[in-house]
Amino acid sequence: MITSLLIANRGEIACRIIRTARVMGIRTIAVHSDADADALHVREADEAVHIGASPARESYLVGDRILAAARATGAEAIHPGYGFLSENAAFAQAVLDAGLVWVGPDPSSITAMGLKDAAKTLMAQAGVPVTPGYMGANQDAVFLAQEAAKIGYPVLIKAVAGGGGKGMRLVESGDAFADALASCKREAAASFGNDHVLIEKYIASPRHIEVQVFGDRHGNVVHLFERDCSLQRRHQKVIEEAPAPGMDAATREALCAAAVRAAKAVDYVGAGTIEFIADGSGALSADRIWFMEMNTRLQVEHPVTEAITGVDLVEWQLRVASGEPLPLAQHDLAIDGWAMEARLYAEDPAKGFMPSIGKLDLLQFGEAEGGRIDTGVYEGAEVSPFYDPMIAKVIAWGDDRDEARERLGAMLEDTAVWPVRTNAAFLVNALRHPDFAAGRVDTGLIGRDGEALAVDPMPSDAVLQAAAASLTPAGIAPGLRLNAPPRRKAWFLLDGEKVEIEVGGAQAAGGGTDAPSTGVLVAEQGRAWLLTPWRRDGTHGGADGSGAILAPMPGKVIAVDVAEGQAVTRGQKLLTLEAMKMEHTLVAPFDGVVARLDAVAGRQVQVDALLAQIEETA
Ligand code: ADP
Repeated sequence: MITSLLIANRGEIACRIIRTARVMGIRTIAVHSDADADALHVREADEAVHIGASPARESYLVGDRILAAARATGAEAIHPGYGFLSENAAFAQAVLDAGLVWVGPDPSSITAMGLKDAAKTLMAQAGVPVTPGYMGANQDAVFLAQEAAKIGYPVLIKAVAGGGGKGMRLVESGDAFADALASCKREAAASFGNDHVLIEKYIASPRHIEVQVFGDRHGNVVHLFERDCSLQRRHQKVIEEAPAPGMDAATREALCAAAVRAAKAVDYVGAGTIEFIADGSGALSADRIWFMEMNTRLQVEHPVTEAITGVDLVEWQLRVASGEPLPLAQHDLAIDGWAMEARLYAEDPAKGFMPSIGKLDLLQFGEAEGGRIDTGVYEGAEVSPFYDPMIAKVIAWGDDRDEARERLGAMLEDTAVWPVRTNAAFLVNALRHPDFAAGRVDTGLIGRDGEALAVDPMPSDAVLQAAAASLTPAGIAPGLRLNAPPRRKAWFLLDGEKVEIEVGGAQAAGGGTDAPSTGVLVAEQGRAWLLTPWRRDGTHGGADGSGAILAPMPGKVIAVDVAEGQAVTRGQKLLTLEAMKMEHTLVAPFDGVVARLDAVAGRQVQVDALLAQIEETA
């Protein structure tokens, strides 16, 4: 067994690998960029090596730096995680050439599956059903148009080197083909340095079903059943589950056998995933499921397989890489219950899923029986703009699909993150969508109903009233009169929007957490809001008497009206903050001088950020 392991990755997957390595008594070495100097994976590893600047192409994608880190720390093996260099055959070869153990398949297996056209050809030869289409070398536009017509519209044009949902074009009819081909080739050349494409029949109501496979160096290959990853947004997986809804035993057997044949055809060693596309317009059947591609690494969604099989896939990876045989044979593996995973992202569904980066002042995950959180961040850490803004994978297990689904929903509803925005409420809506709830899911569901799913929730009256009461001066606090509770109203800013809340007679129900000085945070339904007092004169900051001008909410400084050292009078405008689509004027709380000025026009600021400091003049 290897005794030391360098993890050539970051975030949740680096932490996930470290967790198992630690249990196995293996010394762990993290690598990190500038931005990740204080990241969770760095904190959790036994050692950490700085490998470069924040952009991945200057750190996590530089194979030589990673090899140098392995040499410097005496690491015996390298685990690439997913993404970054995990499917880079040249890097895998360089690791082997350096005399290190590569926790992954042979470089030749990676190459064989690296290009979609070559992989499809190989799979067809191995007797694995592939999506009907053209996957040859002729790239002439007129010829490809003829092939598309032969296949029959609609067709999908796919960059052979594509990945991550990029480099694909759906073409509905012949007259749109030429333009779609040209644009697909442009994108493919720019993104992958290879403009070759293949053409596939577009499968109506497609379902994405994949099979986890595992091979060792002793000729064994097993499968660990299927996962359904059909709930996607723009070809990116959103919620994954295992097993697949509606999968009968005969179809499963045929599908998993095809996956094992596929793995054997490339002498596969280690953890891999065979992705299939299924025609979801009717019941699943083996003759309507086709090979799409193989991912020659651990998948993001591997925890759902772990949850239903009880296998630690990272442990298997490390054992197989050390030369051991697979710990279990096919007949030892069985499905127990149901598991579902949601990808919790730092993004704002209400704003077109724009990434929401910044410091995680509040980070609380919900809990459930059988629940699991795989994260790469902690409260106080930053979601950086340099990498994928995933906060965590939230995984639930249940005896059956509904139990797993309900538990996952509860975990997401109890998730509270501030001031970074997340997709938690969107995920809850997706889980409760009637079609998803009934197991009727295809890759187009979010595209069709996404707008309704992305609607921002509002906090409940009970929670708002309790929060408002805690901010309300004692004179109008609830419960002052025993009978005929007064119906009093007070005004607040809820995430910067003026709201009217009945405070008299409010019940102390619901939850509110202690807030940064300027208000209270309330969290519900997977969403968190900041409730702050509203002031008639529009002076919402700098009110604590100290002269510290703090940002009352996250936003953007759009104007600065004073300079450092300038004398100001009480009520004089200092700066304007734009937050939640409204402008907020911050004024001097008393006569004084601008002793310090941190606000810069155009800059994004977090809640409670010090913008300026006013010192009273004697
Ligand atoms: P990538 O390598 O970019 O992930 P894939 O080939 O795995 O590309 O396809 C990504 C997604 O695109 C699939 O999960 C599925 O939703 C959709 N897709 C791929 N091929 C087809 C097809 N022939 N018909 C319909 N949808 C498809």
